[in-house]
Amino acid sequence: MQLMILGPPGAGKGTVAQKLVARYGIPQLSTGDLLRAAVAEGTDLGKKAKSFMDAGELVPDEVVIGLIEERLKQEDCRNGFILDGFPRTIAQAEALEKITKLQVVINMKVSDHEVISRLSGRRICKKCGAIYHVENIPPKEEGKCDNDGAELIQRDDDKEEAVRNRLEVYRKQTAPLIEYYEKAGILRNVDGEAGVDKVTQEVADIVDSLSG
Ligand code: AMP
Repeated sequence: MQLMILGPPGAGKGTVAQKLVARYGIPQLSTGDLLRAAVAEGTDLGKKAKSFMDAGELVPDEVVIGLIEERLKQEDCRNGFILDGFPRTIAQAEALEKITKLQVVINMKVSDHEVISRLSGRRICKKCGAIYHVENIPPKEEGKCDNDGAELIQRDDDKEEAVRNRLEVYRKQTAPLIEYYEKAGILRNVDGEAGVDKVTQEVADIVDSLSG
């Protein structure tokens, strides 16, 4: 299954993708995670990306296209993948089409109000990237990851100023993809406010109906 999850920041794309990885055994390809890893390692690419990310701006297309192209060549993508946070512009979608074909694009719909509340409460594991929310998805022990006990942190770009900018960037640069994939006939809408388990089940039903 070659799947992409589309939606505003905080829609729950990463959370649902992580659930689908467990269910289907295909990898989650998150350009955000790949970029954060490059920043943490201090690579040239990471240094270039960091200022864009901290401001809530998009990293230049050629950088993320190069990253995803390399990732898609890896063995574990042979039976499919779940793209999370890529493509985010029409130019990225066109570049992706030259590399591989998507079977379905899931559009997670969530209101601005909900996005802001989710992002301000979001915490991620420093070590494994697992996603929590102080109220909606709390860890068993406060401030610690259920998987490995590592510290949970708030992303710099989850602070309020960056969140507002990310929403604006989403509206201008990423939301046009909804129409793009609608025209391609592969867009499926889901209610991103329905709760993680319900959304995951809805997406799984769509995936199963396509592969079954
Ligand atoms: P995410 O974890 O998907 O919210 O991504 C965090 C940040 O990484 C974004 O705000 C962008 O600065 C950058 N980023 C992630 N994916 C992309 C992409 N496909 N195109 C451009 N920038 C990206």
